Amino acid sequence: MNPAMQVTRPEAVMNKPLHQIADHRGSSQRSADNSVLRRQVAEKSLLITRNLQATLDPTRMIELYSMEIGEIIVHQGMRYRNEDLDLDVKTGRQARHSCSYNLALGDEPLGKLTIRRDKRFSTAEISALEELLISLLYPMRNALLYQDALQLAQKDPLTGICNRAALDEMLQRELSHSRRHGTSCSLLILDIDHFKSINDRYGHIIGDCALKGIASMAAAQMRDGDMLFRYGGEEFVVLMRDTGIKGASLLAERIRRHIEEHPCICSGAEVDITVSLGLSELHGNDTPVSLFARADQALYHAKKNGRNQVCVAATETSEE
Ligand code: GH3
Ligand code: MG
Ligand code: MG
Repeated sequence: MNPAMQVTRPEAVMNKPLHQIADHRGSSQRSADNSVLRRQVAEKSLLITRNLQATLDPTRMIELYSMEIGEIIVHQGMRYRNEDLDLDVKTGRQARHSCSYNLALGDEPLGKLTIRRDKRFSTAEISALEELLISLLYPMRNALLYQDALQLAQKDPLTGICNRAALDEMLQRELSHSRRHGTSCSLLILDIDHFKSINDRYGHIIGDCALKGIASMAAAQMRDGDMLFRYGGEEFVVLMRDTGIKGASLLAERIRRHIEEHPCICSGAEVDITVSLGLSELHGNDTPVSLFARADQALYHAKKNGRNQVCVAATETSEE
């Protein structure tokens, strides 16, 4: 085995420690079975690596991998976790026995894989499994690099929150979700008041620090399921799943008040900031563009009416 490739078994990897797993068959039968298994594993490993290259999606890869090794090691379920990329992939079902491995290539951790089954693993099956796991390493590393690049392309480097590209994608997804499930969805645009004069007065470095402060203050007011994006320079968007205009107004007002009452502390300077917010709720025939445009219109009113306030977009039926 290439020493750079590792399949390390973490603490308490199996329901029973390896050395307690007994194989009760006769020794000649056992060695014949084992040599068949070894041959199958050698042939299968190459095939698996090749077949896994069909995808760069870790979820699909685990499903494929489970299917491929299932021909040799019958199992009922598999789970793959990667905390760095926030991945938790499950296939099949729970079972009494399990075997877990930390996957790594050199110093590069690749996540943790657990294989579950109803029957105990024999010693020969454990060796076969470990051999077969190696065929997952390079394809999984490629998939993770790709996922990492995708995630990076959707992040704003200054604040660390999602960017406009991510918003465009998420808006499409959320609108379909709301239509499918008949649930509400609201969108809020937040724009910092007179940010140009904050830059002029304190300089761009403090301006940048204030942007980070606003992002984290807004995020701290949100519920699970609300999503925050940096749309542009000093403009942020919150997308609220399963939330009608009433709930969205409460959140918007909470964000506005919190920012008004908490100056950003940047390099020892206390920077007082206020924000204006525009809100819209999803209507029957909205597109991402029309939903956004109504929130933008409401934001325009908030600015025109004196800033530091929340304005709600007119509904289709109301007369303005
Ligand atoms: P209003 O209340 O009407 O929104 O006024 P404003 O000054 O906030 O709006 P305007 O659109 O005139 O100016 C936005 C400013 O935001 C101008 C630009 O220099 C600043 N800005 C945009 N992106 C960044 C950034 O990444 N860092 C810093 N420091 N400033 C930024
Ligand atoms: Mg602006
Ligand atoms: Mg502004």
